[in-house]
Amino acid sequence: MNPILAVGSVAFDSIKNPFGEVNRVVGGSATYFSVAASFFTDVRLVAVVGEDFGEQAAQIFGGRPIDLSGLQKAPGETFRWKGEYGFDLNTRETIYTKLNVFEQFQPAIPAEYRTSPYVFLGNIHPRLQLDVLDQVRQPRLVAADTMNYWIQRTPAELHEVLSRIDVLIINDAEARELSGKANLVKAAREIRSLGPRTVVIKRGEHGVLMTRPGEGDFFAAPAMPLEQVFDPTGAGDTFAGGFVGSLAAEGETNDAAMSRAIIYGSTLASFAVEDFGLDRLLRLSQDEIKDRFRHFKRLTYFDEG
Ligand code: AMP
Repeated sequence: MNPILAVGSVAFDSIKNPFGEVNRVVGGSATYFSVAASFFTDVRLVAVVGEDFGEQAAQIFGGRPIDLSGLQKAPGETFRWKGEYGFDLNTRETIYTKLNVFEQFQPAIPAEYRTSPYVFLGNIHPRLQLDVLDQVRQPRLVAADTMNYWIQRTPAELHEVLSRIDVLIINDAEARELSGKANLVKAAREIRSLGPRTVVIKRGEHGVLMTRPGEGDFFAAPAMPLEQVFDPTGAGDTFAGGFVGSLAAEGETNDAAMSRAIIYGSTLASFAVEDFGLDRLLRLSQDEIKDRFRHFKRLTYFDEG
């Protein structure tokens, strides 16, 4: 097994959308990532929570191959985020972001985690992502995510992160903002010139676009057509969990493995949106993942004639 070291936010989220509203449910980039990736391999979670975070850790992470020795508890309150979605769930407004215990957080990577072959830098302050990179030893693959919040506030540190990672996983609006290019093909190439060999652009209900050097250059996958889309919160981090999880389980980064990882990421994300917050992922089974992965193949197969 190739374990994944995952750093990011563990949060209390409040979410409002046309179907309802939930308050103070567990979320965060590292949470969604870890639960999704744990269907594929062992995960070593590094994050911080406040004193207000109690039983939740056991409920969410318990019974899964997620090692919590890097989950620190600090004086103060857990990171809080509130998002509100528009009628078609494609637009989301951040109502507030309260960093709380993340203001003082210094990720301390336990000694036995430092040689983790796969590293995922979830969406948090790029300085913290750099702190993690300074502590790990020659990982085989480093993937990272970020969001508009950091693109706008900490561009210099974010550029340093980009120069030190292998894969950037980012959504379409963020790719445009980061590159200054409206066209996604140009945006992806521009971002690659900043460091990451592989750029994965998440396009919500329109699927995913991946670009990497070589003959194949681009690989695209649709999103699973679903009748019930309840809450897209965390879909991006869940995608990343399925993507990096699949790569770590296979131990390969050739074109075929990368493409399969995109489909596993899309498969996991398609479940995440079926219920509020983490709920669907928490009752997901390996058989359901296998079935939907095969369904993806049928969805995109065509005969050349
Ligand atoms: P996604 O829907 O994939 O963009 O991820 C949403 C998750 O990211 C939520 O669970 C939030 O708690 C978390 N999140 C939102 N903003 C930030 C931020 N600035 N830093 C870290 N995590 C965040």
